[in-house]
Amino acid sequence: MSADDGNAKASGVHFFDDVSRQFDKAAAAARTYPPGLLEQVKACNAVYRIRFPVRRDDGGVQTIEAYRAEHSHHRSPTKGGIRYSLDVTQEEVMALAALMTYKCAVVDLPFGGAKGGIKIDPRACSVGMLERITRRYTAELIKKNFIGPSVDVPAPDYGSGEREMVWITDTYRELNPSQLDALACVTGKPLSLHGIPGRREATGLGVFFGIKEALDHTDDMKALGLTTGVAGKRVVVQGLGNVGYHAARFLQEAGAVIVGLAEREGAIHDPNGLDLESVMAHRRESGSILRFKDAHNMTEPAQALELPCDVLVPSALENQVHEGNAERIKAKVVAEAANGPVTFDAAETLARKGVLILPDIYLNAGGVTVSYFEWLKNLNHVSFERMTKRQHEATSRRLIGAVEALTGKSIGDAERRLLSQGPDEIDFVRSALEETMTRAYQVVHRLWKVRELPDLKTAAFLHAIERVADAYESQGIFP
Ligand code: NAD
Repeated sequence: MSADDGNAKASGVHFFDDVSRQFDKAAAAARTYPPGLLEQVKACNAVYRIRFPVRRDDGGVQTIEAYRAEHSHHRSPTKGGIRYSLDVTQEEVMALAALMTYKCAVVDLPFGGAKGGIKIDPRACSVGMLERITRRYTAELIKKNFIGPSVDVPAPDYGSGEREMVWITDTYRELNPSQLDALACVTGKPLSLHGIPGRREATGLGVFFGIKEALDHTDDMKALGLTTGVAGKRVVVQGLGNVGYHAARFLQEAGAVIVGLAEREGAIHDPNGLDLESVMAHRRESGSILRFKDAHNMTEPAQALELPCDVLVPSALENQVHEGNAERIKAKVVAEAANGPVTFDAAETLARKGVLILPDIYLNAGGVTVSYFEWLKNLNHVSFERMTKRQHEATSRRLIGAVEALTGKSIGDAERRLLSQGPDEIDFVRSALEETMTRAYQVVHRLWKVRELPDLKTAAFLHAIERVADAYESQGIFP
């Protein structure tokens, strides 16, 4: 059994119902809208369910089950990743598409939410088979107008990455040879194919910025019995993939102590701290995080969720903290880096215990935020730095010259170089991501306090719901 087999089914939770319950809880506090409008905000607008044949390596034929759900058309294009997993169901894809709508609204991106899913185990497929499946899936989406720079723009998700995005781009361009903006049909592309620097680590970096912002709120930390700041906080991370690895890396760089790590094969615990890069090197060599130096081994990865720590960062899959283990969670802050890692009922239990939950629709929005920058870059056909770098450098040099003339002092060459260096594209991406995550936290946090909402998650959902409802109202897009 693959480790990801154990989530939704084990806890008996239906992901879309769970998202709907969270929606209903927040919508009860919403401003007054025309009757029925909030039902439209909640509904999944379109689902394309596909079955297509693909030639297997042995010459046989395999029927592939796949989906693309567009949850909300209040903004175009819709946006959301494509998941490659045996656990993919229509319900899961719809739930994830709904989360994308709310996520884009929380961080103020001009997209509706979408999600794709291909029901395969990518680790059990040859590269050739994966390529055939991805290309055929893309062709099916094109046929039904479920992909395109102004229609619906996929990205990587669990089980997919840059390689799959290259195949999607290539198939799309082959079938749309004269479309000027074709490169903007998908994000998460490698740099060599007009991707954007910083996309790979964007979600993890956004998770870090979100946790950092939350830990800087003195009153909230006081209520949890914690000091402010990331430095010294004991952290447990579940899942060392794209999101979890980078989130752990940035947290450790900022002085957090990683006391527990979990992967498919099990979990390790060391209250004195685990060095992330050494654990990753150990996993590359031995094929497992287990048996790392003096760390305590746990063969069941979910045990890591119950370790004593300040911040728990579930970064693998949905429904990891559920009714069966919520009471035993010891973390003061649960940072939902994955989509839906805490079920609705578990969130209620954690809230009763006074745990602060940083909601997924805010916390893991860094990926789609940087995808937005990539999409803009592709539509502009120019990189962010190209138009400004030299001009910025010239302005800085003039400023340094003026300061030197005024003070009669000269700064050293090394300092001059540092001060006059214009921003690279990665600098734009990182600063804009930090600004996005910080500002969104402040808006949601203020809403939580001013509207006297029960928790931060409800505040994030309410903010998203009202943004989408306002968009529908202001555009008058229903007859
Ligand atoms: P990934 O495939 O890169 O990584 C997931 C990791 O979790 C893998 O290393 C896997 O081995 C591990 N894992 C699986 N089951 C586990 C278990 N039971 N215990 C411990 N580890 C386990 O996927 P990802 O892109 O990092 O996505 C992770 C989550 O974050 C998903 O919920 C995804 O929807 C969400 N997310 C991803 C992005 C993104 O940009 N990649 C953006 C927003 C949200």
